[in-house]
Amino acid sequence: MAKPLLAGNWKMHGTAQSAATLAGQIADCAAEAPDIILLPSFVCIPAVIAELAARTNISVGAQNLCQHAQGAYTGEVCAQMLADLGCSHVLVGHSERRALFAENNQLVAEKFAAAQSTGLTPILCVGETLTERQKGLRLQVVKEQITAVVDLVGLQNVCRAVIAYEPVWAIGTGETATPEQAQEVHAYIRAQLGEQGIPTPLLYGGSVKADNAAALFAQPDIDGGLVGGASLEAEQFLNIAQQMVEQK
Ligand code: PEP
Repeated sequence: MAKPLLAGNWKMHGTAQSAATLAGQIADCAAEAPDIILLPSFVCIPAVIAELAARTNISVGAQNLCQHAQGAYTGEVCAQMLADLGCSHVLVGHSERRALFAENNQLVAEKFAAAQSTGLTPILCVGETLTERQKGLRLQVVKEQITAVVDLVGLQNVCRAVIAYEPVWAIGTGETATPEQAQEVHAYIRAQLGEQGIPTPLLYGGSVKADNAAALFAQPDIDGGLVGGASLEAEQFLNIAQQMVEQK
């Protein structure tokens, strides 16, 4: 069983000051919380890390990285830069990156490899669109997204990461997968990873809120959550963390 884990994806919100304030509010009350990863925008990372200095169960990660190690890639941020700042994790393949910035499975796999080669833990996001679900393709899509990464880095390395199942139709929409829908895909991912002896945390993401968190976290193959909108407010996020503690 993987350790319960709650990640907050702050997307393109906040300033260095407001991000540090939010991180501080979360840290002040997070003693009884599960392991937490905060994912501010790139430019807010130093302020959040400074705010969290010497506090324990909260890590900081980024929302994206470049697949290349260094070079003439204007505007990009590489894994080593994130590691130097003190990041431990990085999202790869978030659906907003896939849909809005044309990241395909191959590119996501390369970003995953770049993260791991620098010692960062990737949080690999997978999930189907509404049309894919309606066509009965949800498991196939998730399988292909994971297989692309396995083909590049190997199954053992994928198992050393965190995987977030985020049905695209549930992200930022207020629509949440039912606990049964989420559990089905989580169990499928668990089976795809097989018995590698590494407890890979499987997070659910998609409009997780205080009022639906308990039922989701009660599912046996949901080890934690990746929370967007509801992570921007300390009280909501901590409430979700509390539900996780009670269920896990
Ligand atoms: C996300 O950004 O990964 C996410 C799950 O967002 P939301 O919780 O707002 O649906």
